[in-house]
Parts: sequence; C-alpha cells; structure tokens
Amino acid sequence: MYPKIYLKPGKEKAVTARHHWVFSGALMKRDPGVQNGGVVAVFSADHKFLAIGYYNEKTSIAVRILSFEPAPIDGEFFWNRLQQANNARLELFRDSQTDCYRLLFSEGDFLPGLIIDRYGPGIVFQLQTLGLEQFRETFLRIIQTTWKPSFIYEKSEGMARLEEGLEARSELHAGELPEEGICVRENGVAFRVDIRQGQKTGFFLDQRDNRQLVRRLSRGKEVLNCFSYTGGFSVGAALGGAIGTINVDSSQPALDLARENFRLNGLPPGAHRFIQADVFEYLRASRDEFDLVILDPPAFAKRQSSITAAYRGYKDINLHAMKLVKPGGYLLTCSCSYYIDSSAFQKILFLAALDSGRQLQLIAKLPQPPDHPINLFHPESEYLKAFLCRVY
Ligand code: SAH
Repeated sequence: MYPKIYLKPGKEKAVTARHHWVFSGALMKRDPGVQNGGVVAVFSADHKFLAIGYYNEKTSIAVRILSFEPAPIDGEFFWNRLQQANNARLELFRDSQTDCYRLLFSEGDFLPGLIIDRYGPGIVFQLQTLGLEQFRETFLRIIQTTWKPSFIYEKSEGMARLEEGLEARSELHAGELPEEGICVRENGVAFRVDIRQGQKTGFFLDQRDNRQLVRRLSRGKEVLNCFSYTGGFSVGAALGGAIGTINVDSSQPALDLARENFRLNGLPPGAHRFIQADVFEYLRASRDEFDLVILDPPAFAKRQSSITAAYRGYKDINLHAMKLVKPGGYLLTCSCSYYIDSSAFQKILFLAALDSGRQLQLIAKLPQPPDHPINLFHPESEYLKAFLCRVY
C-alpha cells in the first residue's frame, strides 16, 4: 500500500464529503516514505482510511484525491476514468457538427490536475500537477489507444503549475500539428485554432452554447464583442445576421485570427472591425451605441486575495458597457472567476446598473456547458457564469 498521511481531528470532513482537495493546514503527520509528487493514502486522526491521492508540500493543496476507495493508482485506474469521461462526451456530441470539446475536465471528471481537449482529429492535454507528471507515459498510451488522434500535443502551462514548482512544458508527442494551427467545427461553424501560441489549450471551448445564443439573437443588430479573442462570439453574431460587429482585444495575433475566422465562414471581414485596445479604456472612450454588447473577460479573481480588485474590475466594465447599449438592447456578461459566484456576480451587476442610470432585466443565467461538468462534491469545478440582460 501507499505511504500514509494522517489528517488532524475533524479535518476529514471534506474528504468524507468527497471533496478532492486536502489543504496543508489539515495535515497532522506523515509516514517517512511520503514524497512530493508521490501517491499517498489519506487517513483520519483515528486511523480510518479516507482516500488515495497524490502529495505535494509546495502548494497549499497538499493532497489531491484520486480515489475514495483503496484502489491501486495504475494504468487500469486511469483507463477507467478516461473511458467514463469519453463515453459521456460521445453521448453529448453524437452529431458531427462539433468536433472540438473538453474530453476530461480535471476535478469535474474526478481526475484532479488533468485536462484533455479534442481539437478535430487531434488531442491537446495539460498536466497541472507534480503528482500527475509521473503518469505522462500512461496518459499518452491511453490517449493513443482510445482516440487514435492525428496528433497529441501537450500544453502544460498556467498558474497551477507554477504553484506546484513546475515549469511550463509544451511539446508535440505524436503525429503532426501544422504550424498554422488546425481548423475545427463548433456547431457547424469553422474556426482556426492556434494551439501552440493561443491561450488556454487554444480555444475557449466553454463558450460554445453562449455563442449559439448570440447567433440566435443577432439578426439585424450592431454588436460590440469585448475581449473577443479569435472572434468566437462575433462570427456567431455575423452568421446570425448581425449588420456589423466590433471586436476588441488586447492581443493582435488573436484579432488577426478573428479576421481569418470571418473569412473561413464566408463572411467578408469588411463589415467588421478588429480593434487592438484595452477594453477598460475602449468602453470609457466610446460614444457609439449597440444592440448587443458582449463582455467575456479573463478571470479577474484568480485567487482569493484578488477578489476586491476583481469586484472593481467587473463593476467598471459592466457599468461602462451598459451605457453603450441602446434602450431595449442586450448585454451578455460573463465571469469565469470561481471566487465570484453567481449571486456575487448578480450583486456586482446590480451595483453597476444602479450607477449607470439604466434599467436592467435579467433574462437568463447561463451555466458552463456539459463537457465542463460540475462535480457536485467539488464546488470549485463550477466557474463560468454568463448573464443575459436586457437594458432600458
Ligand atoms: N470571448 C472569447 C474568449 C475571451 S478570453 C471567445 O469566445 O473565444 C479573454 C480575452 O481577453 C483574451 O483574448 C485576452 O487577450 C483579452 N484581454 C485580457 N485583458 C484585456 C484587456 N484589458 N483589454 C482587452 N483585451 C483583454
């Protein structure tokens, strides 16, 4: 069996409630054999078995739980987890209109630290923790056997890795990935994705359903798409009959790709504008009015300590965005900060609306899509909120 870690009295509650994280403050003592990155068995103070996980003293999350049963953590264990996640996706994406989606969503799919995304014929994966590093070859083998992808690209980057004491590691493990990226389909819409240079694993797969909503809403409308990245929302809007869209993002390469994504879908980019700017400044300076304004910023609260600044940021952009909406028009506003939950976000919108002097109706609260499942025992897996409001 694995070396043991004992929790302080009372600290077993989260684990018995099937939460996947054990914080360092909950640890009482550990066997001498416990190593950073190694698999451990977690016990309560009174020596009852709780779970199996992996350990790293460098992060505040000292143990991430892999199994609540005393199971060996081996190829078969991971195989079963990946098949379960894959089978769920096969049901979700039976039609062939969408060939890019999240195949495995870390704690959301009961496997902390691992992300696997499908991009057309290929697979991009991300290892976020030291504990999973030793299983890289295992994952590569399972990915190869399960999906027989045309390429397997690892994109292990991001803040979680830094906290784990790991460097970024991005490389092509198998097959071929063209320099110019690849072309995928989302609800029948074509997108070029730059997997190597792009953000996250290349595309914001979690906004798929909301892009469809924007497409349905956009007939005859002028649309302002803030934090546009590669134009996901505005290509949807244009296909839905928008008269024009303005795309604002701080990243020029993202805007260049947005322009290309319009072309890919037979939309002449001439009717659309691609503006490299800071959204905070752009919204303050703009005197235009729009039928639909979209706000999809990066997470302003990436950790607990930045919540106050994040509140200010969200309020600021929402306040100024509301002012640019024509009476009777729409604001689609998103937050992907876990630390700001749905009711906190609603409060921010209320305060922004009050200051803006506008009347707001909340039309819909939209959740993250089903390929980013929320693990009920692990609330941190719920992070994306999109509120559709009508503004008078
Ligand atoms: N809505 C996009 C995803 C947005 S991701 C989609 O559907 O694909 C967030 C984007 O905000 C990134 O492209 C990033 O470059 C941009 N960004 C971050 N801070 C910004 C700022 N202050 N001003 C403008 N763009 C910003």
